[in-house]
Amino acid sequence: MPDTRARRIAELIRPLRVKPGSKVNLAKDFDPRYKPGYLKKKDSADLLQTGITMLADYQRRLAAQDTYGVLLCLQALDAGGKDGTIRHVMSGVNPQGVQVTGFKVPSAEELDHDYLWRYACRLPGRGQIGIFNRSHYEEVLVVRVHPENLDRQKLPPGAKGKGVWDRRYREINDWERYLTDNGFKVVKLFLNLSKEEQRLRFLKRIDVPDRNWKFSAADVRERQRWDDYQKAFSQMLSATSTPWAPWYVVPADRKWFARICSAAVLVHTLIDIDPQYPEVSMERRRQLQAIGRDLEKEAPAGALTPSPAAGEPTAADRPRARAAATAGVAAADGHG
Ligand code: AMP
Ligand code: MG
Repeated sequence: MPDTRARRIAELIRPLRVKPGSKVNLAKDFDPRYKPGYLKKKDSADLLQTGITMLADYQRRLAAQDTYGVLLCLQALDAGGKDGTIRHVMSGVNPQGVQVTGFKVPSAEELDHDYLWRYACRLPGRGQIGIFNRSHYEEVLVVRVHPENLDRQKLPPGAKGKGVWDRRYREINDWERYLTDNGFKVVKLFLNLSKEEQRLRFLKRIDVPDRNWKFSAADVRERQRWDDYQKAFSQMLSATSTPWAPWYVVPADRKWFARICSAAVLVHTLIDIDPQYPEVSMERRRQLQAIGRDLEKEAPAGALTPSPAAGEPTAADRPRARAAATAGVAAADGHG
């Protein structure tokens, strides 16, 4: 991984990171239209493609190593761009390594459990990237803005009185710390949309017939609670951006920029994990070569030499792996 690329990614996302312990006032601290001057829309397709390619490569290594998992939590107000972000950012990744879960109003079965249960049931396994389209953070957002949701959760009296939100922040932080300590990185993106851009996107959903299905009258009702949501988001960001799982506030008024930033945060996390293909011992390498010789002997006349699948790194592409293989040790790290 060239260091300059890693450095550029780190620089791009630094202003989006919520400093743990800081007090956030969303309206004042984060501009939904922010972008650095040097980034232009005409370069966005190439940049996003670079991110997508890097993600695909890292995801293969994550799966091969089978030690770490990544949980990406996406939060936004309606029309914030969660679906489009998932569609674009994950477009190059092997679907077997990714698991997307959307969270809606909880079912009767879900309400019969503790509030984190349904999220715990959908966590990614090792080697996987899990995406939460809405997440456990709804438990301190929609549930806070509409407290009747809390009544439906059948909590004992002591668990829903004063201090319930501070307790939930603490429980969520503890849960994420537990996951991180056990190999599961938690990445949190808040797609920060302006009220005017939301209005325009709703209008588009009404005006364009193919988008009508995306429009719901409930979304407009929620819009009337805009200020309550801004406050709930501000408090959530202040209380739950931690050193082990910081929040990133992604400016969401420009979809192309939001997608680049989302890919960048995810790639940044994977660079940090730096997953490696498992080392192959000299003994194992010798066994593989012996099996390979037997298979070669079975070749019918005129048989072709097998070539690797498209996109797979070959020994020839990877000088380090090739050198190691020649020496009889394939220390395949997959990144030449
Ligand atoms: P959508 O993501 O547009 O399909 O809508 C899902 C709906 O489910 C949104 O209105 C959310 O506010 C709502 N929702 C998600 N999680 C919860 C929750 N824990 N309690 C109540 N409503 C929720
Ligand atoms: Mg909706």
